[in-house]
This record gives sequence, C-alpha cells and structure tokens, in this order.
Amino acid sequence: MVTAKARAVDGPDKSFYETEIQRRDLDINDILIEIKFSGICHSDIHTAHGEWGPVNYPLVPGHEIAGIVTEVGSNVSKYKVGDRVGVGCMVDSCGECKNCQKGEEQYCLKGNVPTYAGVDKYGEPTQGGYATHIVVTEDFVVRIPDNIELDAAAPLLCAGITTYSPLNHWGAGPGKKVAIVGMGGLGHMAVKIASAMGAEVTVLSQTLSKKEDGLEFGAKEYYAMSDPETFSKLAGTFDLIINTVSAKIDMDAYFSLLTLDGTLVNVGAPAEPLAVNVFSLIGHRRSFAGSMIGGIRETQEMLDFCAEHNIAPKIEVISADRIDEAYERVLASDVKYRFVIDISTM
Ligand SMILES: [Zn+2]
Ligand SMILES: [Zn+2]
Repeated sequence: MVTAKARAVDGPDKSFYETEIQRRDLDINDILIEIKFSGICHSDIHTAHGEWGPVNYPLVPGHEIAGIVTEVGSNVSKYKVGDRVGVGCMVDSCGECKNCQKGEEQYCLKGNVPTYAGVDKYGEPTQGGYATHIVVTEDFVVRIPDNIELDAAAPLLCAGITTYSPLNHWGAGPGKKVAIVGMGGLGHMAVKIASAMGAEVTVLSQTLSKKEDGLEFGAKEYYAMSDPETFSKLAGTFDLIINTVSAKIDMDAYFSLLTLDGTLVNVGAPAEPLAVNVFSLIGHRRSFAGSMIGGIRETQEMLDFCAEHNIAPKIEVISADRIDEAYERVLASDVKYRFVIDISTM
C-alpha cells in the first residue's frame, strides 16, 4: 500500500482538513502516479456538499489529475516510470458492454467507476486527486503531450473533454455557428476548442464583464444574456449551442436561438429538473441533448488536439490550504477560469 497525503471533507458543511489515505497495492495492470496538480471542478463542490445525492464521507474530491508515473505493474505496456500522465473523471468500467466496446466508457452500461465517491472493483470507495498519489489501471490513464504544462493540463481532464466531446460529436467546424452559454471553467474551454475547430463562436454570458477575455479566447461575438434584445437579435442563428451553466435557466429562450435542425447540448448539470415547452423544439426540428465527459480514446485525442493548437485553460494555482476559499470563489463566479491545486503544498 502507498500512503498518500490528502485533503478530505467530512460533511456537506465542513471544511477541508489534512489527512492520509491508503492507495491499493499495484495490480499487474496498475500505475502509481505521483500527482503534481489537481483542478477544482464544480462537480467536486456539488459532491462535497452532498447536492448530487448521499456521499460516503470522508471524501477526497478531484478528477482533473496531472502527474508523473512513479511505478508500473508487471503487465503495463503503455507507460513507464517518468511519463507525464493524466487521469480524469473515471478510473474503470466493465470493458465488455457495447458502449465500452465502442470506446465510450463514460456511458458504460454497468456504470463507470468515478474517480471519487464511487466504488472500485475491489469494493473499496474511490478517492480523488486532492492527494499526493493515486493508483489507476493503465487503460484509464492518458498521456500529457510535452508542450502542455502539467498545471494547465489538469483542467483539460474534465473541463476540456466535457466540452471537446460534444463539439466533436455535433460537428463544430468551418461554416458552423456555435454559441457557448456561460464563460466559466467549462465555457472558456469550449470557446477555445470550438474556435480552434474552425467554428464561428459566440459567447452568451450573464454580463459583458468577461467580453475581452472571450474575444481573446477566439469568440467572434459576445452578448449579455441579461440584455433582452440579445434573444430577439440572435433568434434562429446557431447550429449548435453548448450550455455549460449548471443552474436552472429558461430553456425555451435558448432553443429560440437555434436554426433549423440546430441542437442545444447541456453539459452543465443543474440539480433541479428543467422545464421545456416542446413547441420551441418542434417548430424548427430542433434537438435538446446532453453529453457527459468523453471516452478514454477521445480524451487522448482532445489532449493531442490541444497540444497541436496550443490550447490551455487559464488557471489560478493555489496551495492546498486554500481549497475552502477556492470553493467559495467558484460559487461566486470569482475565478478566471479554473483553480488548480499545487499538490507539492499538500
Ligand atoms: Zn469535473
Ligand atoms: Zn461497460
């Protein structure tokens, strides 16, 4: 067993504290990773606060993990000691169902094993990346290209793939008009990736306060949703809308912005159900879809795409004793655009 230093939380209203957790002994296909950086995702906050259902505390969140391989099992073939690697939102799946066979492990019919707040095949609770080490089977590890810094790589493992996958699936590219709703951790990645894919990108944000950043990230236009004229002006415009907001919003108003056959994809996950007036879909054969992270093969493809196009998230690196403060600032939308924990401060 490897003892890892970690930061855990004991309940929905509790603060993070310093602790130690045990990582399992390496199985023949396992890799031991020394974690260097771990991103703070909004999902970490929802889970730590118990908003997505009951949680077995203590909980160590973190599913945007970047580090270095320090030991490999006897059967490992893809990685060697010293390699720069990443781990995202899942650490295992059945490997046999039709979705796993297609490389869409995130949609495993038996349920993928989430990086934290899950149960692994040994029956043990999974603990995430706010820790110095993690053990993961090699098939759920991805390679971080040399020209992406490890601190910037971390958020790509969730925010990057969560936005890349639907943009890729629904064909964002030259000649396509794509709108990104929300300019937070997910949204700012979506703007960068969609622009690099060649799409014409518009940001729909609550206010114009981040307009300069949005245009710098590659957006062509930037509108405030708080301005009622935005919706009349942009009616019927977009082929694809990626909604990154994980709060209840007026869906029908956003459907009205889609062109004929346009699709709105939700990647944000509000805790409450959203109301939909079906008339706003059937009138122009519009679709309302959802998408969750991406498979391992696609995650590697996303990292290679980001390396090729020099795409990296804009991050604020913090020490491990500032996690509670970072959570408060994420909830107040006071971060540009992703907090990343420097694990050397653990
Ligand atoms: Zn996440
Ligand atoms: Zn499966």
